Amino acid sequence: MNAALYGFGPERSRKWILVDCGMGFAGEEHTPGIDLMYPDLSFIIERRKDLLGILITHAHEDHIGALVEMWPKLRAPVFATRFAASLIATRKLSEPGAPKIEMTEVAPGKRFSLGPFDIEYVPVSHSIPESNAVALRTPHGLVVHTGDWKLDPAPTLGSNTSEATFRALGEEGILALVCDSTNIVRDGESPSESEVATTLARIIKDSPHRVAVTTFASNVARIRAVAEAALAAGREVVVVGRAMDRVITVARELGYLDGLPDFKTAQSYSYIARDKVVALLTGSQGEPRAALARVAEEQHPDIALTAGDRVIFSSRTIPGNESEVNAIINALVRKGIDIVTDRHDLVHVSGHPRKGEMRQMYEWTKPRIAVPAHGEDLHLAEHAAFARAQGVADVVKARNGTLVRLAPGRPEIRDHVRAGRLYRDGDIVIPALDKAIPERRKLAFAGIVSVAIAMNKKGEFVGEPAVDQLGLPELTRSGDKLIDVVDDAILDCIKGLSRAVRRDPDAVEDAVARAIRGALRNVWGKKPACHVMVVEV
Ligand SMILES: [Zn+2]
Ligand SMILES: [Zn+2]
Repeated sequence: MNAALYGFGPERSRKWILVDCGMGFAGEEHTPGIDLMYPDLSFIIERRKDLLGILITHAHEDHIGALVEMWPKLRAPVFATRFAASLIATRKLSEPGAPKIEMTEVAPGKRFSLGPFDIEYVPVSHSIPESNAVALRTPHGLVVHTGDWKLDPAPTLGSNTSEATFRALGEEGILALVCDSTNIVRDGESPSESEVATTLARIIKDSPHRVAVTTFASNVARIRAVAEAALAAGREVVVVGRAMDRVITVARELGYLDGLPDFKTAQSYSYIARDKVVALLTGSQGEPRAALARVAEEQHPDIALTAGDRVIFSSRTIPGNESEVNAIINALVRKGIDIVTDRHDLVHVSGHPRKGEMRQMYEWTKPRIAVPAHGEDLHLAEHAAFARAQGVADVVKARNGTLVRLAPGRPEIRDHVRAGRLYRDGDIVIPALDKAIPERRKLAFAGIVSVAIAMNKKGEFVGEPAVDQLGLPELTRSGDKLIDVVDDAILDCIKGLSRAVRRDPDAVEDAVARAIRGALRNVWGKKPACHVMVVEV
């Protein structure tokens, strides 16, 4: 959920720019029913009249995914390269009622100013076309916000991280480098995208039957590599999955897939000979509704794989998705399908810099201050130690919501501002602290018992209580029905109630709920949620 704010000026008249507006993916285990999250931007929403612009570094969801949701509350002009702007536009088309975002296209290398900020888009290589660092020049110094980047001696498409440009920035004098930490724990340097392309070409050429490749939908260089490999092996490419269709449409328009034959639709898959096809599938993270999961479960209307076919995971499993991805791999292996992952061969490289690349970046830029960004605590801590070892004078450990003064004077943490998470729950956006989430967890853990009891005006019970339960086991250890335990607990409780209590429906509800939970704890060891309603008749 990348969203970095830079402010300039005295507090009363301070002007801001926001770099990126990304979303995150929530783990279903801790947040049942929630899969997307957004940053809580209350701080800048309250100051939106001083927000001069939103700069998008590149089109990955963790950098643009919250824009459509948050923009109506910010209403500042958005700056993005053509590829990112086009992807944001196609994404909006798929969300009815999406706002009309004020968007300005920025050419790579372009320099323009917003209030006190002189802004330069500095091209970098990454795993999506048109990625940029932003150089922010102010009267108090130059800040370089790297965005996501890597070094690639032989990128297959898109921009490259230019040593000359970063060295020139370093010579100009960089006050602070706010830099990607994602891959800092890995030593050495990333292999090049072109080595991945060579490996894919070899594997596809040597495959006896069908080949399916799954990768991140937005990785145009990888899509291109697969298409070139298919072409060289005399195979057609079939594209399956909406997210990939969307990216491919934009990539074709912008010329990133020039020279390649048109891709085939999923419907044409069954007409192509088994050794003449490569299917490009979404779902490399095990997303249950994406193409790959449906193929693995034999639920896809058009695409089927059989023993002897091959599936290449040209991707990395993002932490948290392991069990879903492994379930798919196991399902495919059971069918006799051959699996290739980045553990078997060089079929994927990360778009983020390893230590060796980071060392070069620090050497070129020589910042006075380092602010590790984009990573978990482990990555940020490792990056901080690394920056110190590179001889950076000041290393600032900023977490979400940390307000850091970079200049004038030595850097200093000034404040911690509100910066939580918001969850997308169906069509509603809720704060992370909304009680819906712990309630759902509780229901998932021990279910719920609902009871309705009818009473007349004199405080006498009418008829039998109605009882329903959801998510409870059927039988106790000794084989009794759990529902009978609940029934008995209710009847025993009711019998023992005093006349005074009977006249107070709230007190009856409390007493019955307590009795049920107590009885279930005794036979089950767990206490479900319990809803008791006394209805006066
Ligand atoms: Zn990225
Ligand atoms: Zn990112």
